[in-house]
Amino acid sequence: MRRFLTAFALSLTGLALAGTAPAIAQAPVETSWSLAIHGGAGTIARENMTPEEDAAHRASLQAALDAGAKVLDDGGTAMDAVEAVILILEDDARFNAGRGAVYTWEEGHELDASIMDGRTRDAGAVAGVKAVRNPILLARKVMTDSPHVMLSGDGAQDFAVEQGIEIVPSSYFDTERRREALERMKADKLSALDVDIKFGTVGAVALDGEGNLAAGTSTGGMTGKRWGRIGDAPIIGAGTYADNRSCAVSATGWGEYFIRVGVAHEICAQLRFAKMPADGVVEEIGNFLRKQISNGEARAIPGMAEQAQKISDEVMADVKELGGDGGIILVTPEGHALYSFNTAGMYRGRATSGGIKEVAIYGDE
Ligand code: ASP
Repeated sequence: MRRFLTAFALSLTGLALAGTAPAIAQAPVETSWSLAIHGGAGTIARENMTPEEDAAHRASLQAALDAGAKVLDDGGTAMDAVEAVILILEDDARFNAGRGAVYTWEEGHELDASIMDGRTRDAGAVAGVKAVRNPILLARKVMTDSPHVMLSGDGAQDFAVEQGIEIVPSSYFDTERRREALERMKADKLSALDVDIKFGTVGAVALDGEGNLAAGTSTGGMTGKRWGRIGDAPIIGAGTYADNRSCAVSATGWGEYFIRVGVAHEICAQLRFAKMPADGVVEEIGNFLRKQISNGEARAIPGMAEQAQKISDEVMADVKELGGDGGIILVTPEGHALYSFNTAGMYRGRATSGGIKEVAIYGDE
């Protein structure tokens, strides 16, 4: 009962607050698809960016957003939209995923990625792959063509070859900017956070016209990582989660903290509970709401976007309290697309069939 009343009160509060929270895309009820993307969060400040860098990042985000929006607008699936976005960002050296992956301590590259289908909660992930051009494709293959959820290292690579996934020489991932970051880290005994300035992981979350959610994340990890370190990006429930009953989330940030909090699943679980009336009390109202939710008519419940924002902000505050930072993107079954981050900025974008289409970088936009 208390949970129901809280949810109801939150809904009312949400109504009262509607329009006062700029971070929330107020998707109209008729929204049939929705998409949010990210290219990493961190100390991204205007004064550290040249106008050219600013424009180039926005153009990259826009290209990825447009590709995903096109899939959804053409009636494609959320899974295909997520893949389309991430493929573009993996091939773009500006981001720490695929081509632009950071260097490990041993001066190599080890890539992580995961993808999840909110309709079935099927998922696939790869960790520490060294020669796969697009780890997101391999993660999806793990989901569709293996009995497993997560493969790592050489075994994952063998599976990639078997599945005809494109293999590239390690030099494909070599970039001057990332090499310089590793060298500076070693020379000045700095941490990855000092030299990376931002986390450049990429991710996408989508709701398609059939009402299905999907989430995906891909990364090179953190500069100077060693001993086979694996971050949150390939961990289902930490960096990626999708469940049609609640939301789809992709994260970027200091992976160790996101794993410890179980960020993506934590947000989805809290949102699912917030939507769910308590059993056995106020039977009729409970049954009515339960029916709405199971019919996928939860969009009739007001304040859902505000609840999702509040829960996301609280979970990110929890990450901060432990000492971590970063951000998330989220899409709800009702079509709301939102962000939450505790860093100065986050490369991000969102689009809906209702006409929202934006990319942003700094925290104040
Ligand atoms: N979360 C990633 C990791 O810890 C880093 C990032 O977001 O850029 O591997």
